[in-house]
Amino acid sequence: MRQSQLFTKTSKTAPKDEKAVNAKLLIRAGFVRKMSAGIYAYLPLGWRVIQKIANIVREEMNAIGGEELLMPTLVAKEYWEKSKRWDNDVVYKTEESSAIGHQSSYGLGWTHEEVITYLATHFINSYKDLPAVRHGLPLAVYQIQNKFRNEPRAKNGLLRGREFLMKDLYSFHIDKADLDQYYEQVTGAYKKVFQRLSLDTKITEAAGGAFTQEYTHEFQVLSPAGEDEIFYCAKCDFSQNKEIFQGKAGDKCQKCGDNIQQSNAIEVGNVFKLGTRYSEAFDLRVTNKEGKKDLVVMGSYGIGITRAMATLVEVYNDDKGIVWPEAVAPFKVHLIALGGKEKSKIEKEADKVYNQLEKAGVEVLYDDRDVSAGEKLGDADLLGMPYRAVISEKTGDKIELKRRNKDGVQSVSVTELLKLLK
Ligand code: ATP
Ligand code: MG
Repeated sequence: MRQSQLFTKTSKTAPKDEKAVNAKLLIRAGFVRKMSAGIYAYLPLGWRVIQKIANIVREEMNAIGGEELLMPTLVAKEYWEKSKRWDNDVVYKTEESSAIGHQSSYGLGWTHEEVITYLATHFINSYKDLPAVRHGLPLAVYQIQNKFRNEPRAKNGLLRGREFLMKDLYSFHIDKADLDQYYEQVTGAYKKVFQRLSLDTKITEAAGGAFTQEYTHEFQVLSPAGEDEIFYCAKCDFSQNKEIFQGKAGDKCQKCGDNIQQSNAIEVGNVFKLGTRYSEAFDLRVTNKEGKKDLVVMGSYGIGITRAMATLVEVYNDDKGIVWPEAVAPFKVHLIALGGKEKSKIEKEADKVYNQLEKAGVEVLYDDRDVSAGEKLGDADLLGMPYRAVISEKTGDKIELKRRNKDGVQSVSVTELLKLLK
């Protein structure tokens, strides 16, 4: 893509009302723009990052038997009433409008247990409709969709939006043992997702809420920007949310005896055993082998897609800008032509390299704008592509290649460049 044709421009300063690093950098670089508190537009560069994150999540959900679907965003009041969640503070509600002849109210979808459980009642009737996870055949569906929540404190940039993109997966089981087995599989898939995203997560025990004695598990990324606080062991995998941890930093780990540490953390995902809470509300049952009706056992599993993007920016940045990990960068390489006295010759050369990279299938952002060298190099650092390739009077017939996350440059030929980036 030619940078001269990009919809967005960079800006030197961030809006004054943004305090969070993620929002400041993403706005300055032109990846997102704030519309209202907690509501952002995802601009072309930001949308490329989101698509990459979403595709990684999609691949790993498909790999554990998840089937993708899309549920409605407008969810009628009657569904929320069945589960007694209509009066939850986060629900955005539409007004009843008798003037135009209908009396319905809707809540904007903030999570979809109600919708999926209602849908499942049409397709899950017999124990035969619930294939055993141990045979590698789970019944699980997911979507990647915007969620709406009237969050009281939307002050942390994209980490806490009022409208945000989430992946939500739901699974259906004949019994608790089957759910437990799938829960482990989803946990494994989540580990792969976050590894691929270059996000180091602590799998953290948290309270399961009003309906269960069991823990749920949160995937937490250590960061001062995080709104959660966790207590974890640096040596073993022990980690608990502050909400349930009894003790303090410096205590001995109950698993291995090492020292417990405390940190702020960002919850990028969670896995949750719902049990029969929603199957009871919607009377989702299967006939068992004896001909009796059993409640279906369910699980629900979320990943914050836009929150993951914000987390990446919080973790990977320096004083010059964003430093995207390769798997999610909007483009792999930022190609820059620095004109100088031999402007037209250099531009011609850069055009050629750009076409070769495109032809080779390398994702390249080509800065062909008529602006100063300082502006081009500054923008390359701000936007944060993993590689920067400069063609200038100085480079001769070579290209100066630099990695965004490393100091020092390398002088390479076009052939070497193609080989390195393919
Ligand atoms: P939190 O404790 O941060 O409010 P939650 O427990 O409400 O999160 P879930 O309802 O389980 O979260 O949602 C699943 C995932 O969606 C979370 O793990 C998080 O990554 C993401 N998420 C939740 N709320 C928001 C939000 N307001 N903005 C962006 N992402 C969010
Ligand atoms: Mg919440």
